[in-house]
Order: sequence, then C-alpha cells, then structure tokens
Amino acid sequence: MSDLRLQCGCGSVRGQVRDFAQRSRTRTVCHCVDCQAYARHLPDTVSILDEFGGSDIVQLTPAQVTIDQGMDQLRCLRLTPKGLYRWYADCCKTPIANTVSPGFPFVGLMHNALIINGPLDGCLGPVNFYVQGKSAKAPRANQKVHAGFPVSWFLASAPWMIWGKIRGKHKPSPFFDADGKPPIKPEVLQG
Ligand SMILES: [Zn+2]
Ligand SMILES: [Zn+2]
Repeated sequence: MSDLRLQCGCGSVRGQVRDFAQRSRTRTVCHCVDCQAYARHLPDTVSILDEFGGSDIVQLTPAQVTIDQGMDQLRCLRLTPKGLYRWYADCCKTPIANTVSPGFPFVGLMHNALIINGPLDGCLGPVNFYVQGKSAKAPRANQKVHAGFPVSWFLASAPWMIWGKIRGKHKPSPFFDADGKPPIKPEVLQG
C-alpha cells in the first residue's frame, strides 16, 4: 500500500490518498452524459475527458482522502437536486472527486487531482471497467466497453463498499462533516 499526492492544477488544494492498494480499488472510465456535462461545465484547463468522452475515476473510501490545504477553494456541483456531489477546485477548476451521499463509503477520485509520475496504469493499475459506452463519443477499439454499468461492476464494487460501510470508512471525509453536512453549499444546476 502507498500514499498518493492529491493536488489541483495550480497547487492551492493539496491533500493525500492514504493506503492506496491497486488490488482493493475499482478504476472505472465513465462515458455517461452527466460526467460529460460536468466536464463541459468546468473550463477545460485540465483534460478531464479523454478523446472518447470518458472520465477516468478511481473509486476509494472517504476515509482514505484528506485535504490538508485549500479547503476554502473547494466547490461542489450537482447537476440535478439528487445528482452526485461533484467536487472541484475553484482556483483552477480541477475536478477532485465525486461522492454519492454523506453515509455512502464511496469517493470517485478524478485522476486529474492526483500527482502521478509516469503512466497512470503503473501507479493506479489498469482500468477495470469502461462503462456507459452508449454515450461515448467514439468506439474504443481495443477495450471491452459496457453499454451501461454491468453486473460485474457492481459485483466488483460491492465488497469494498460493504466492507467500508461496516468499518465506518465513510468518515472522516473532507466532503462531509460528522453530521453529514458538506463544507460548502452545493450549487445545483437544474431545480
Ligand atoms: Zn487550483
Ligand atoms: Zn459518469
């Protein structure tokens, strides 16, 4: 297991991902319309989407993630009132992570927020799932792309989410305090 450095593009927001182990995470590239809409909402100072419209996301527990500097720059966007909490750094519009809800032991960390030397695969391990391919901008030639979220994705994600819930890994979280309140009021795009 290792620790990874979390940092926005300009360096104002800094933190860490602790106890990262390639075998106990699910790396997913999502092509869904919501992830693409979110990327369009942020000025493209960092390459959020790949050429196929995919967002590269590493799924972790909130307790693994800390933000030690720049919490005042943290912003939250929800595309709809019940949509994911999508966290980004206001200073340079780097997307940081997506969360579902305060009690859910899940953080989808955007690769853009990680300082990684060398190829992503070497540090994070290979992509496990390419999902929501029905919304991809172009077909991915050499990868198995699922039209939606396949059962195998749920089967791969469920064990560590359940384990994380049992062990209380949904907190502490940089995104919700002990009462489940976000540090900043999320902006909701559609009422
Ligand atoms: Zn920044
Ligand atoms: Zn998505």
